[in-house]
Amino acid sequence: MKLVNGYDLMNYARKYQHVLPAFNTTNLEMTYAIAKGLMEANLPGYIQISSNNLRLSNPDVIAMIARDAVKDAETPIGLHLDHGKSFADVKACVDAGFTSIMVDASHLPFEENVRESRRAAEYCHFYGIPVEVELGALQGKEEDVVNEEECKTDPDMVADFVERTGCDVLAVSVGNVHGLCLNPRIDIPLLARIHEVCPVPLVLHGGSGIPKEVIWEAKKHGLIKINYGSDLRKAYIGTFGRAYEQNHNEHDVIHLSLEAVDDVAAKARELVTMINEH
Ligand SMILES: [Zn+2]
Repeated sequence: MKLVNGYDLMNYARKYQHVLPAFNTTNLEMTYAIAKGLMEANLPGYIQISSNNLRLSNPDVIAMIARDAVKDAETPIGLHLDHGKSFADVKACVDAGFTSIMVDASHLPFEENVRESRRAAEYCHFYGIPVEVELGALQGKEEDVVNEEECKTDPDMVADFVERTGCDVLAVSVGNVHGLCLNPRIDIPLLARIHEVCPVPLVLHGGSGIPKEVIWEAKKHGLIKINYGSDLRKAYIGTFGRAYEQNHNEHDVIHLSLEAVDDVAAKARELVTMINEH
């Protein structure tokens, strides 16, 4: 299959009542691994890369790898920009063939957040690509942005924000945290209140560590997409770490990289299956 347009992917998820995982890639191996995990599970989802990661892998390169990785897929897979930090990044990813975009201006004051999100949405919509925006900032480490302050999404601001930005999906902050957190306290009543007033589906970032029962519950309150970064990165690094611990002279990068692809794919497969059990 070709990479699937974000609107089509969300329509497919709604039709078959799936939650779409969005797995963060970093490089070639992770990209192939994510596609492999989704294909083995035969469930839909996204390969996504964050703006910060574009310092390592430029959008054209990642888009090319992603297209190759999904060419034998029989389940729809999209390519998403995660935490688009600038209009230049948004534009570069759309131009490279990404099929879904997030613009993250949640660190800015409300009015500026609206303006930046709206500008990105207008560009993306011109090309028929959906846009995710964020209201309320997450705790924890989002790449190198550290936000210690608790800043949950205010339901009273949601309808206005969605309407004025023209966004298609909304990332919320309801106790979810970026990074590895063993027991994040997801505020389901808050999610339910947001869902009541929000005309578009919802996204949870920081999926790693959220118990499956909580995700199934969130699915009843508008959740369509959940992001996973840390779980897959840990699997990737673990492959190399274990090999090095066993043998400090280990230097078979090809073999280990192939093993890392399998390990990351197994984790992606486990997660996409878990969130869709219910
Ligand atoms: Zn995030």
